[in-house]
Amino acid sequence: MRQDPAESPDFPARRAPGAHTVAVLDERVTHCRACPRLVAWREQVAREGRRAYAGWDYWARPVPGFGPDDAALLVVGLAPAAHGGNRTGRMFTGDRSGDVLYAALHRAGLASQAEASARDDGLTLYGVRVTAPVHCAPPANRPTPGERDTCRPWLARELALLRPTVRAVVALGAFGWQALLPAVAAAGWAVPRPRPVFGHGARVTLAATDGGPPLELFGCYHVSQRNTFTGLLTPAMLTEVLTTAARTAGLPVRDDTGSGPHRR
Ligand code: SF4
Repeated sequence: MRQDPAESPDFPARRAPGAHTVAVLDERVTHCRACPRLVAWREQVAREGRRAYAGWDYWARPVPGFGPDDAALLVVGLAPAAHGGNRTGRMFTGDRSGDVLYAALHRAGLASQAEASARDDGLTLYGVRVTAPVHCAPPANRPTPGERDTCRPWLARELALLRPTVRAVVALGAFGWQALLPAVAAAGWAVPRPRPVFGHGARVTLAATDGGPPLELFGCYHVSQRNTFTGLLTPAMLTEVLTTAARTAGLPVRDDTGSGPHRR
């Protein structure tokens, strides 16, 4: 029996570079089945569901990035959550991590609302796009290095397509940081050797290899429940990194008094 081309390990490497718009890239990634373990998991989770989400028709496919295709700021997480993005089909949507992230973006004036519950909930991001280096939900939220590398062409292409406008990236957690560096290099920015080390509050300027605008890379603890419940990452810490990165990217940010950009 002939193998489905989407199941080939080189499907991302073959299909991502030819995507000439972010919309096309977002559509293409949803067909990917290159990682057998993750395909099996995302579909098993959808079949078994969870009592709290009874009646949901799970997305159960790769979750594309979310936000405008001319974003100045990119936020890079780890991978969709099994009952979050894998259920709703949108990054950081329908789980506690997303609640924390979008509330912070809303406080900063970068999102139209704090709540993120479904693809049609009306949430709009202003100048910010949210994505992940691994587009399918992994068991125990732990992709393997091989799965991370297989998925990289999608992120590298996303960065390349955003290159005319993107000026800053926030990596949420060490996994996102480490996965991001080779993708950033593939998209045209120089990554120093030795590679910069992740830390909350870390900040590195990456020069463009063609003389274009540099990219400012920020580290932030991941918005996982483990980090937010224990207080390792507080809402104030998250807002601080996001607003600093957004200002660096040239985005209008709501100030501490709650005034700032007013958008509809
Ligand atoms: S994790 Fe990435 S490469 Fe693997 S199946 Fe999902 S979209 Fe494809």
